[in-house]
Amino acid sequence: MIDTAAIRADFPVLARQVRGEPLIYLDSAATSQRPIQVIEAERDFYARLNAAVHRGTHALGEEATDAYEAARDAVSRFVGGGEIVWTKNATEALNLVAYALQNTTLDGGPLALREGDEIVITEAEHHANLVPWQQLARRTGATLKWLGLTDDGQIDLSTLDRITERTRVAAFTHVSNVTGAISPVAEIVKAARAVGALIVLDACQSVPHMPVNLVELGVDVAAFSAHKMLGPTGVGALWARPGLLDQFPPFITGGSMVEVVTMENTTFLPPPARFEAGSQATAQVAAWTAAVEYLERIGMANIAEHEAELTAHCVAGITQIEGVRLLGPTKGGIGVVAFDVDGVHPHDVSQFLDAGGIEVRAGHHCAQPIHRRLGVRSSSRASFGVHTTPAEIDAFLDRLSEVRRYFGVIS
Ligand code: PMP
Repeated sequence: MIDTAAIRADFPVLARQVRGEPLIYLDSAATSQRPIQVIEAERDFYARLNAAVHRGTHALGEEATDAYEAARDAVSRFVGGGEIVWTKNATEALNLVAYALQNTTLDGGPLALREGDEIVITEAEHHANLVPWQQLARRTGATLKWLGLTDDGQIDLSTLDRITERTRVAAFTHVSNVTGAISPVAEIVKAARAVGALIVLDACQSVPHMPVNLVELGVDVAAFSAHKMLGPTGVGALWARPGLLDQFPPFITGGSMVEVVTMENTTFLPPPARFEAGSQATAQVAAWTAAVEYLERIGMANIAEHEAELTAHCVAGITQIEGVRLLGPTKGGIGVVAFDVDGVHPHDVSQFLDAGGIEVRAGHHCAQPIHRRLGVRSSSRASFGVHTTPAEIDAFLDRLSEVRRYFGVIS
């Protein structure tokens, strides 16, 4: 059990009203709200120790660098150890990996994909873990394949044989940002490991909501974003198992990632600096520590239990509303519930809920293929955070049960 009343007091935005109603924020999967501890940590960086990192030979520079590197330790510890590279967001982290798998300039190594190689993803992917692989396949002549989905949006393990001896990369989401379904990581990792594929996990929707130990999961690289886990906007993480990044060539080049530069040539710093060219989002990185500490204080197992209960409660309610179809599993999901309202466009659903102070997402949630697979173009999505309460879900369900009448679909 977590103390949601105490937690809610930490989130300033929850005190406001929306359209004259108390705010019910059910869009944490898009971006989480921030507790005061994180807001203050970012402010504190500017107020006390703002300076360029890894450059200044002065006290402020050293303190800023310490805060920046302490965040790296905190985020790494939070996901079970391993190396962390700061990126702009998870999307950039995944692009960095896809870029590395095309370019072999550093060591001409075995990573570069070629014609005949295969990349395997799933039909459930967010575009951030789909488009970079599609583009990589196009640029290298590799073939993109994908694991299929069951009718309730879960990864269909009967399609696991699409991972073959030709598979060089297996990239998949840990938790779907549409259905909340948790992927069968162990099975996919086993199949991909057996053929020596590089295993890439999109952990955007898992790391904020449940205990995740990337080392124990046995993946090679992973991506997630601070802004979905109570942290600042504008910073993400590329996580890698120790030693792997040594084989990756630079992605963005320029200052802060070089050793010696002549007019003819450049030698590069080892990771992580090799991948952190130019001025970084220092205050945001530093404040990510506060988000990690906040989550750790509550305990990820407690958060997972809370959010799984909320999800089950929401799913149970939705399946009882006539004309509302759940898009996703009835059991086992976490944090996210998508649905289709018969006869009412998701934008109208969202606006109707918004008029009652309830904020949900409408659209394809950057995941068009899974919507196509589930037979819809778009959907509505409610998603939860550590501050969400069962009472908020009840208010949402009450209003949702009025939406078809309001739009004249039923009388
Ligand atoms: N993958 C998943 C599963 C996501 O939910 C998101 C964000 N909606 C992303 C990737 C991309 O994250 P970001 O926008 O922070 O790069």
